[in-house]
Amino acid sequence: MQYISTRGFDAAFTAAQAIQQGLAPDGGLFLPDQLPFFTMEEIRFLSDLSYAERAAFVLSRFLTDYSYDELLSYTRQAYASFDAPLKVLTNTVSVLELYHGPTCAFKDFALQLLPYLLTGALKKTGEERTIVILTATSGDTGKAALEGFADVPGTRIAVFFPQGGTSAIQRMQMTTQAGENVVVFAVEGNFDDAQTGVKRLFSDPALREELAQKGFLFSSANSINWGRLAPQIAYYFSAYCDLASSGRIAFGDAVNIDVPTGNFGNILAAYLASCCGLPVHRFLCASNSNQVLTDLIRTGTYDAARPFYTTASPSMDILISSNLERLLYLLSDRDPSIVRGYMDSLAETGKYTLESGAFSALSERFYGGCADDAMTFETIRKVYEDSGYLLDTHTAVGWNVYEQYASETGDTTPTILAATADPFKFPASVLKALGAAVPEDDFAQLHALETCTGRKAPAALASLEEKEERFQSSVAPAAMKAAITHWLTE
Ligand SMILES: *Cc1c(COP(=O)(O)O)cnc(C)c1O
Repeated sequence: MQYISTRGFDAAFTAAQAIQQGLAPDGGLFLPDQLPFFTMEEIRFLSDLSYAERAAFVLSRFLTDYSYDELLSYTRQAYASFDAPLKVLTNTVSVLELYHGPTCAFKDFALQLLPYLLTGALKKTGEERTIVILTATSGDTGKAALEGFADVPGTRIAVFFPQGGTSAIQRMQMTTQAGENVVVFAVEGNFDDAQTGVKRLFSDPALREELAQKGFLFSSANSINWGRLAPQIAYYFSAYCDLASSGRIAFGDAVNIDVPTGNFGNILAAYLASCCGLPVHRFLCASNSNQVLTDLIRTGTYDAARPFYTTASPSMDILISSNLERLLYLLSDRDPSIVRGYMDSLAETGKYTLESGAFSALSERFYGGCADDAMTFETIRKVYEDSGYLLDTHTAVGWNVYEQYASETGDTTPTILAATADPFKFPASVLKALGAAVPEDDFAQLHALETCTGRKAPAALASLEEKEERFQSSVAPAAMKAAITHWLTE
């Protein structure tokens, strides 16, 4: 299988090259030139396997320059301590719990595996320079990437998060990170400022050249990297198998997939799974008040030139959803000139309007909905009272949008809701939603949520209380380049 750029660069790459480079040379995103297909027999076969085996099986169809045994040894190590359980909650909604990894959010599925895929890629391509991972984060990617890459030989990792734009627990998860090869900066701006700053570093030829001479090569752990996206495809197959095994659906029946969305990576993985044979009726794209995707799906116009809101679901506070470019490419019959047109328009005017064919394809498969903080809190409270199930703020956005969808359409297709984070990652918001008092101190909040719900916070979060914050410096977006150069060459 070969990988091509969504912007039409005139060469193809192996999976190892695509993972190593992160972004295509023309600024486009990598996609397989042809998608693999999984028959229903193969999907049924996955049901009897462990999560690590399911993931290796799915990945082996995409990463064809890695052997199945190599991938299996990676997935067994990456997923040794967690998997993706599916909890059937109501007649129609099952929750796919993606937050049992070391950083308590779904990004662990990709970022626990990516260091193996990347170091494997370096061996295949003969690259000997030190890989420098640059990552902008809205809160969860940063910690998951740090945890995956800490002290991995041949790599260094720098993370930029928006100052004041994450929960306190998220910030401390990052600033307490151990490891000789890591650094963390607060950016004086929002997530889009951090992401744009990282993109600027990537596309700075002088910087690239200067660091190459010192033995460094940039790569990305953001969800634009194919090595981030591919592992996420696997858990949608896994969830489908579990739902079918539970008897709620028969193999071959269609499901809906509902994903709390920010950068459009997780829901794109679901869409790719369906292109590869997973039977999906509708994709529910759930946004918070930064409802740029809701508006796109409803009107056909993407308009990022709007106020940015800081919400109770910070990992979805995004106005420029990078992975959308891959969907645009697929919906435009793989015509890179159309994608380039949209991206140029986005860069120049902050918006673009889909051509009619792409818009009808989008609105046929995707339902866009949004929930503000008040609706999110109300959903957490109601679901907890009705079923005892505790949602985090992001997953609650997804649940709320499911309810809007179900009442608007009357659709009763079984729906898989991706639960993207552990509720203990956002204790202040969850306490507030449950109508409990919210203490001032972050760890008092964690303990108050334990008392209020009778559950224990995950050890990875509770233990932050004893850790020291190693990284306390902040940078203006314009100073990111100097900060990186200094860190790499000091
Ligand atoms: C990253 C994240 C999201 C958004 O996922 P995308 O792939 O960026 O759309 C949603 N919820 C949580 C908890 C996250 O960490």
